[in-house]
Amino acid sequence: MSVLFKDGLVFQGKKILPSGFCVLVEGNVIKRVAPHAEFVGFDGEVISLEGKTLLPGLIDCHVHLVFSGQSDLQATVSTLKQHDLVLRSLYNAQQILEGGVTSIRDCAGHDYIEVAVRDACNAGLFKGPTIKVAGKAICMTGGHIHFMARQADGPQEVIKAVREQVLHGVDLIKLMATGGVVTEGVNPEDSHFDDQELLAGVKEAHRFQKTVACHAQGADGIRNAVLAGVDSIEHGIFLNDDSMNEMVKRGTFLVPTICALKAMLDGDEIPDYMREKCARLEDRQKEAIISFYKAGGKLVMGTDSGTPGNHHGDNAQELQFMVDMGISSEDALIAATFNGADLMRLKDRGSIQEGYKADLLVVDGNPFNDISKASDKNNHQIVMKDGGIIVDRRTSIAHKISLAA
Ligand SMILES: [Zn+2]
Repeated sequence: MSVLFKDGLVFQGKKILPSGFCVLVEGNVIKRVAPHAEFVGFDGEVISLEGKTLLPGLIDCHVHLVFSGQSDLQATVSTLKQHDLVLRSLYNAQQILEGGVTSIRDCAGHDYIEVAVRDACNAGLFKGPTIKVAGKAICMTGGHIHFMARQADGPQEVIKAVREQVLHGVDLIKLMATGGVVTEGVNPEDSHFDDQELLAGVKEAHRFQKTVACHAQGADGIRNAVLAGVDSIEHGIFLNDDSMNEMVKRGTFLVPTICALKAMLDGDEIPDYMREKCARLEDRQKEAIISFYKAGGKLVMGTDSGTPGNHHGDNAQELQFMVDMGISSEDALIAATFNGADLMRLKDRGSIQEGYKADLLVVDGNPFNDISKASDKNNHQIVMKDGGIIVDRRTSIAHKISLAA
């Protein structure tokens, strides 16, 4: 099947293409990106982009498929049955896709359920986003999300924990350098793994070509993680100038996850201990993100969807929060497409280029003037995954994906 997108704005992932450019999709691939004149006489399906914008499908570099926004994550993994969690995780992945996000990185799961969901979706058994997974987070004894993590102490045990994740077929390694919000009794400001443990974990992960995503909120933990050579700092709340400069120099990504704090501050039924921690992080988070952005650091979009009150499917709203903080619409969209693919090492996604997979998003209007055109999924006209239309709001009844592919 051939589909030609024509007569609208095309954002290629890094830049807006000159007016008059069309995009031809054949099968699951972007076959040709060229001026309109080249397609005179085209007799396949034509999708008019008049008054609309064509973007690469969005990429969310930080989600948790096993959670569905419940307020108590420990209770969720300890009380829900495994078979419930499997189906919910698959449903969550599909919700994310329907929300315009065509690739995701799961940054810590439970009992490798998300590994099975990844395999099912990536193999095409079920419709879903392209998924990469970290398996179990690796934390110190009693560390952040210890109730679902692989607890390890000392460099040698961290190395063993990394090898266990590799054995389970993960794509990346998640290390916990500090405390965090959703675990009762730990402080985001405290560093957890020390520099030697982080160094050992990163070295072992890189030895097997796995990137390292590092949960790091307190300043000492961020510094330890950056100097250990992690690929991305998740959250980065108390980022200071020294660590920021080091990240810019090394090309370390920052994954802000603004959605997560907002959802906990605004949500109902959020435990007091979480809300108190969020309140002391909120202003600091904004400072960190904006100073990193102004210093020229590499930002990607990450939402932490699945955490309390932070629902899968609303992931694109992170774009609005980024822009509200002072990031330009264009840079927010680069973070959510091209940069996300770069961090996830997706060599043929995140950009509208010939030979790339046809993961595309058509939105109403111009998101560079009004980011809500991309951040509010109700303004998404078409979500295309690997050349197949998943959501189509051009008619009054939106298509819904079915469980079976
Ligand atoms: Zn997370």
